[in-house]
Amino acid sequence: MAILIDGKKVAADILADASEKTKELKAQGKEVSLAVIIVGNNPASRVYVNNKEKDCANCGIRSIEYALDENTTQEELEALINKLNNDDSVDGILCQLPLPKHLDEKIVIESISPDKDVDAFHPINTGKIMSGDYNLLPCTPAGVMELLKAYDIDATGKHCVVIGRSNIVGKPMAMLLLHKNGTVSICHSRTKDLAEMTKQADILVVAIGKAKFVTGDMVKEGAVVIDVGMDRDENGKLCGDVDFDSVEPKASYITPVPGGVGPMTRAILMQNAVTAAKISLSKKVVK
Ligand code: NAP
Repeated sequence: MAILIDGKKVAADILADASEKTKELKAQGKEVSLAVIIVGNNPASRVYVNNKEKDCANCGIRSIEYALDENTTQEELEALINKLNNDDSVDGILCQLPLPKHLDEKIVIESISPDKDVDAFHPINTGKIMSGDYNLLPCTPAGVMELLKAYDIDATGKHCVVIGRSNIVGKPMAMLLLHKNGTVSICHSRTKDLAEMTKQADILVVAIGKAKFVTGDMVKEGAVVIDVGMDRDENGKLCGDVDFDSVEPKASYITPVPGGVGPMTRAILMQNAVTAAKISLSKKVVK
C-alpha cells in the first residue's frame, strides 16, 4: 500500500508560513498586496478568483480585485496592468486565464512586470527557471517540489518521468526535477510507447488532462506517483489523470485527487505574493 501524500496538510503549513511572513512584513511597514484581474464572466474563473481572494484574506494579504467587462479591449487591459506595474502599493499582479478570445494572452502575460508576476508565466521568469536562478516559480510545479520535500523524497539520481509539456506545468516541472539532480524524461502526445517510458519512472509526474489515463500496468513497483490532473470521471466526480485504484497498490507514494497537488497550487500563490512583496521592499531599500 502506498503512502498517501497529504497535499492539504503540506499546503496548510505553507499558508501558515505565508501568514507569518505577511505579519513580519507588516511589522516592517510593508502590507503584502495582490491585484487580481478577471475579465468577463467565465464561471470557473470566478470560482478560482474567489478562492484566491479567500486565501489572501486568510493569510492577511490585501487582495484588490479588478473585475473587467467581457468586452474590455487589449489596450484597456494593458493600461490597467501598466498602472499596477507602476503602483508601489501593489506587490503581485495576477490576471486570471483564460481571457476572452479577442484578447492576446501572450502579450498580456508579457506586460506584467516580472517582479510582480506571481504566476511566474512571464518569459523572464520562465527563462530563469532554466538557469536555476529564480525568485518566483509557477505555482503547480513548485507545489509538487514542496510535496516531495515534505515527504523527504529525493530526486537525486532517480529517473523522473513527466507526462505533459505545457509551459505552465510539464516543462517547468521537468526543469525543477533536473535542478534536484533527477534524470528527467519528458513525455507528450507524440511519445512512442508511453508505457515503456512510464514503467521506468522512479518518480512519475502526470499532467495530461485525461481522466484516469495512467493505469497500474504503466507504473513500476515502488514508484512515487504525483497526479497533477484535475478531471471529471464518467459520473462527473473530480478525479486525476491517474487511475488511483490500479496505481495505488504498486506505488510507494501517491497524491490523491482531490487533496494532493490542487491545494499546493493555491498555497504557493500566497508564498509567491509574499516573495513579490519582499522583492518590492528590497527595491525600496536600494532606492
Ligand atoms: P495542457 O496544456 O493541455 O497539456 C497537456 C499535456 O499533456 C500536453 O503536453 C500534451 O501533449 C500531453 N498529452 C495529452 N494527451 C496525451 C497522451 N495521450 N499521451 C501523452 N501525453 C499527452 O494541460 P496542463 O495545463 O499542463 O494541465 C494538465 C492537467 O493538469 C489538467 O488536468 C489540468 O486541469 C491539471 N492542472 C492542475 C493543476 C492543479 O492545481 N492541480 C494546475 C494546473 C493544471 P502535447 O504537448 O503533445 O499536446
